[in-house]
Amino acid sequence: MKIFDTHAHYYDGRFADEGIDVDLLLSSLFDTQIEGIVNVATNTENARTVIEMAKRHKGMYTALGIHPSDVSPDADIDSEIEKLRFMLTDKESKAVALGEIGLDYYWQPYDADLQKKYFDRQLTLSEELGLPAVVHIRDSHGDSFDMIASHPKAFGIIHSYSGSAEMAREYIKRGWYISFSGTVTFKNAARVASVAESLPHDRVLVETDAPYLAPHPMRGKTNHSGNLVYTVGKLAELWNIPYDEAVKITTENAKRVFALD
Ligand SMILES: [Zn+2]
Repeated sequence: MKIFDTHAHYYDGRFADEGIDVDLLLSSLFDTQIEGIVNVATNTENARTVIEMAKRHKGMYTALGIHPSDVSPDADIDSEIEKLRFMLTDKESKAVALGEIGLDYYWQPYDADLQKKYFDRQLTLSEELGLPAVVHIRDSHGDSFDMIASHPKAFGIIHSYSGSAEMAREYIKRGWYISFSGTVTFKNAARVASVAESLPHDRVLVETDAPYLAPHPMRGKTNHSGNLVYTVGKLAELWNIPYDEAVKITTENAKRVFALD
């Protein structure tokens, strides 16, 4: 079995800036180490690019949603939600999740009320459609948890997890999965590693968040799904199991949450 990258942004301008031919890169990744990739949109504009890219690669799926840092007071929330609903229910879009959505109180300036409005509406949509949500949480652990707890039928993935072990267990109890990015391998992130170590293996996923968050020893470089060997390797080490077993567990988990085969 090969590795499943549950979260990447292959349309990001950083690939072109580095002179990387993304389609060529993806073809070689699918030929060698990678079983599947979810290409994640951050607004209704790049969602179109995300979908076009997924059509060109059999193993690529999409997550479509409006990121907290992409919400705008000038947009009409009702029409944005309807655009999303249309794309998510179109079979051609290869959508397996609604995302990424959430709350980000790190990037300044931000409008917490507007972010919450979009988060709430999109969680409701994910409940209606029965699709998993992909949630981004930055400097907003309390508010994000409260919002998710107020949507008991919602389920999905807390992406690039950075919270506490206690909170992770609360999400798991509510049917959510916890996804770890390259940060779990960082030398100065022992806390993230200890959270990963403590969780039930059947609720853990891996992701790149490519082109960002490359794992050690590739930290700082342009990230791609092939670097997941380091992330999965770290989980295998933390769980004290063979590497191949960590690949199998995390890929099976990904297929379960995205309802693939
Ligand atoms: Zn992301």
